[in-house]
Amino acid sequence: MIRNLVLLIVVALGAWFVLREVRRYRERRDRESETKRFAQMVACDHCGMHIPESQAIRVDKRAYCSEAHRRAAENG
Ligand SMILES: [Zn+2]
Repeated sequence: MIRNLVLLIVVALGAWFVLREVRRYRERRDRESETKRFAQMVACDHCGMHIPESQAIRVDKRAYCSEAHRRAAENG
């Protein structure tokens, strides 16, 4: 009887430990993907709108949200 109780406690502790580690891992992963997403956003040099870096039009160190804004900025 006592052995069953000890076994139950060990299993419960093990499950608690595993669940805690899984939760920590998920939180870390969520935080990292959020940071990555935020880091990939750039502001349009013309209108200031934030766009994903992959969609931005790059000219030197500037970024634009669209071809129209790149042209507008270049023409003053
Ligand atoms: Zn723009």
